[in-house]
Amino acid sequence: MASSSEPTAASPANGCATPGSAVAPRDLAFYTRSLDCVHCGLCLPTCPTYQVLGIEADSPRGRIYLMRALAEGRVEDAQAIRPFLDRCLDCRACETACPSGVHYGEILETVRGEIERKQPKRGLAAWLTRTLLWHVVARQNRLRAVFFAMRAAELLGLRWLATKLRLMPPAMARIAPPVPPNRERRALPTGLHHPPTGVRRRGVTVALFTGCVMEQMFGRVNRATLRLLLANGFDVLVPQDQGCCGALLVHAGQPEQARQLARANVAAFASADLVINNSAGCGCAMKEYGHLLGTPEGDAFARKCRDISEFLGEVGLTATPAAHAGRAAYDDPCHLCHGQGVRKQPRDLLAMVPGLQLVAHERPEDCCGSAGIYNLLQPDLAAEIGRQKVERLLAARVDLVITGNPGCMLQIDSHLRAAGHSVPVRHPVELLLPPE
Ligand code: SF4
Ligand code: SF4
Repeated sequence: MASSSEPTAASPANGCATPGSAVAPRDLAFYTRSLDCVHCGLCLPTCPTYQVLGIEADSPRGRIYLMRALAEGRVEDAQAIRPFLDRCLDCRACETACPSGVHYGEILETVRGEIERKQPKRGLAAWLTRTLLWHVVARQNRLRAVFFAMRAAELLGLRWLATKLRLMPPAMARIAPPVPPNRERRALPTGLHHPPTGVRRRGVTVALFTGCVMEQMFGRVNRATLRLLLANGFDVLVPQDQGCCGALLVHAGQPEQARQLARANVAAFASADLVINNSAGCGCAMKEYGHLLGTPEGDAFARKCRDISEFLGEVGLTATPAAHAGRAAYDDPCHLCHGQGVRKQPRDLLAMVPGLQLVAHERPEDCCGSAGIYNLLQPDLAAEIGRQKVERLLAARVDLVITGNPGCMLQIDSHLRAAGHSVPVRHPVELLLPPE
């Protein structure tokens, strides 16, 4: 696939500055980083879309080639390569596999942003996606109101009706479990220092990021995270002005809007020593605020961010978890293992749960097909990737699945139900709680 006339990192102007190129040299860093790819193909077996589709253009190597061709002006119309970029989960399994250290996620997100800036997607679905992400998901109060309305509609039987009349997209009907009752969706008390219930560990104030989907679909996980930190001796702050992390906007090629959210979070967590996240996708995005904002404040904020399992793995548990008998599989969220390099800590912590037997399953680092709202935008591909994930989990004969991201919890749970199994899906923090 390599071309003898390829430009080098030392002479990016050979191609990247081509007048009229769909991706202008606004950010040359992405272009020069794409040149690190030596086309070895070692990333191909790890790519979920390549595994399912078997098409070079739907592989990491193929997509890098297409993005470079666009930057160099060899592909004139960005729309020609857009479907291949849209089918990428941004799961970053290819980054883990790559011996050349290609920063694939950065390249993809930069190119998506440039294409979206120059040629915003047209059509009702694209407009709805943009509206949903910016005017609903990014505004916590509106998102809470939407979940309140959805809960009311379910109680009135309207969800059943909408599914029967096919007014609800089939993908959403399949994925979405019932909205939890209002008491489970209530926000954690904000703006307060919660004093520890265990022996106090001095020196750090940790602040908890509560997220959007996590709060509304898994409020129990937020409450468990808070209780776990308090039981292990930490003073916890839940900042009032925190908001959406912006990950979905970055993935959708809307970095300017994501920056607004990032700046608000940097300010909201200014007084915290550490920012604790229990959602792998949000945590990964927040660790990348330095790159997103390009400011020292963004870098300083990123250095304060920790996933809850990463943090507790570093400092150790002082409260012994309650016993939990059974065979459990831990499945790595992509944005925790590939995005943040956190693999060992959750397993080490879960090994401390009395009675819990952690068993291995095949390809735990493969994406489950959730990937933000990918399962709504690419339902068929997401469904096949999810089916394969659940097949491997069930082959390990587990009676519990553990994973640390709300999207993964929803996706795996929906595919377990679709396969006729009632194996529960839990977040690691739920297993690490001491007895009440
Ligand atoms: S991010 Fe994931 S889906 Fe996209 S090219 Fe890399 S491995 Fe494939
Ligand atoms: S493993 Fe890295 S260098 Fe090799 S083809 Fe994939 S992205 Fe390129």
